[in-house]
Amino acid sequence: FPSVLEKLPIDDSNPSIVRDPNRCIKCGRCIDVCKTVQGISVLDTMGRGHDMQVTTAYHKLLSDVVCTYCGQCAAVCPVGAIHEKDDTDRVWSAIHDTNKHVIVQVAPAIRVSLGEELNLSFGSIVTGKLIAALKMLGFTKVFDTNFTADLTIIEEGHELIDRIKKGDTLPMFTSCCPGWINYVEQKHPDMFKHLSTCKSPQQMFGALAKSYYSQRENIKPEDIYVVSIMPCTAKKYEAQRTEMSVNGIDPDVDAVLTTRELAKMIKQMGIDFNSLREMRFDKPDEVTSGAAAIFGATGGVMEAALRTVIEILDEKPLDSIEFDKVRGMGGIKEAGVTIKGETIKVAVAQTLSNAEILIQQVKAGTSPYTFIEIMACPGGCVGGGGQPYGTTHQVS
Ligand code: SF4
Repeated sequence: FPSVLEKLPIDDSNPSIVRDPNRCIKCGRCIDVCKTVQGISVLDTMGRGHDMQVTTAYHKLLSDVVCTYCGQCAAVCPVGAIHEKDDTDRVWSAIHDTNKHVIVQVAPAIRVSLGEELNLSFGSIVTGKLIAALKMLGFTKVFDTNFTADLTIIEEGHELIDRIKKGDTLPMFTSCCPGWINYVEQKHPDMFKHLSTCKSPQQMFGALAKSYYSQRENIKPEDIYVVSIMPCTAKKYEAQRTEMSVNGIDPDVDAVLTTRELAKMIKQMGIDFNSLREMRFDKPDEVTSGAAAIFGATGGVMEAALRTVIEILDEKPLDSIEFDKVRGMGGIKEAGVTIKGETIKVAVAQTLSNAEILIQQVKAGTSPYTFIEIMACPGGCVGGGGQPYGTTHQVS
């Protein structure tokens, strides 16, 4: 172990998270959240006395360990020893590049939390001001990720109906949380066939931007620069996957900023956020459903999917669009849903340690569920690793 005065190398090997051991005060919060909330053990203490460090096993790089990039360690670190990879400079460069048409999408989970990061009163809805701020920063168009959350639900809902009708692999797991997808890839690849084949709303937007939008606006895909504002650090990695690109070369989403990074850019620009006049999202995707808006909270994807699936199969409008049993902060919630006289069971889990319980049921052949929603972060994306510090919730 190095002496206390020696500068330790910063680990930025991971696509989402940077670890600077020189700032670490050894409080152990990152270890606690990784072990107890997520059920993983990426970080632990090694050594004794002054030489004790919070680090990975055998001092491996963060890119070489089982890390889902959920960023919960960054969200609880009080000194910034673990933080998201900062992409603000890349985005500033794109905005100032006159050859680029720079557009941005905004996730549902940030339109309250951004206000908290910018010192507005707790719970303020800042969607209109957020759009105005993004225009002032220099984005040409500001779109709503809720539009592609609606597309996700249509796709995922039909996939579930198909699987039920054909007797294909069930239960089907949701696939819109990249932290969860990383977990399955790294720990349970035998569960692949249970995952929905749908891209996440972020990536559906990126794919549409570089195909449909590109053709409609007559702009080459490589000249369009797509930025996402997300509550999530894992989305930075998701956007870098080669399968999420045009011909494996041009990424569908070029850069992902967390809520904290966007707040930083707004402060760098000296924008008086609170005094901005509210604006609306650009067309065509300014009209979105209430089902898309609830994607940001645990149970939201499930509730949105049930609204679609039940209405399609029952061939009549829903009597009530609210499914209370999948709401709330329980670690695992379940509900029975009656469709055409038959009852199916569905489950919703938040955090990966709760997801693990449901996975083990599937592996043991005892899972009673037809459809399962998993969100890696406590409370869902509202408690994401890129949200303002101090918003992570306690989970049962
Ligand atoms: Fe990202 Fe949301 Fe999944 Fe957390 S729950 S990893 S914020 S998509």
